[in-house]
Amino acid sequence: MITESPAQTQALAGDMIASLCPGKRATIVELVGDLGAGKTTFMQGVGAYFGITGSLPSPTFVIGRAYDLPQGKPWRRLIHIDAYRIETVEELRGIDWDHYASDPGNIIFVEWPANLKINLAADRRVIFNHIDETKREVTI
Ligand code: ADP
Ligand code: MG
Repeated sequence: MITESPAQTQALAGDMIASLCPGKRATIVELVGDLGAGKTTFMQGVGAYFGITGSLPSPTFVIGRAYDLPQGKPWRRLIHIDAYRIETVEELRGIDWDHYASDPGNIIFVEWPANLKINLAADRRVIFNHIDETKREVTI
């Protein structure tokens, strides 16, 4: 899809999440694209879909953030990981990936998934391409 504003990119999040349901392990979504392509902007739409008030700040400097979801949602916890700065497997151990990924109550979004250097076995991959200042190509 081509989006022509941040709001349009955010609006794609809800439809994508509605196509997912919890399984035997965490639900995992990879967000792929260059800096400024729209990954964190998409996450704002994820937060809005789940009724998380306020902005979802990029966790670039803390690697990950977890949000408890309101009752009645298919998942109990939303986890947003930004692996941009991760360079070694040792840093990954700091996240305790297996612990998060094995919990069916978690829905996990990962920016820069390749930096984790493991197969995340993601349920969806969202690829963001910069077309021009206001246009992005978003492929799910
Ligand atoms: P990333 O997390 O991929 O590095 P961000 O979402 O932080 O990227 O930044 C995307 C930037 O591009 C934001 O400043 C946003 O306002 C701007 N932007 C302009 N047009 C769009 C669009 N169609 N979709 C998403 N972001 C857009
Ligand atoms: Mg980002």
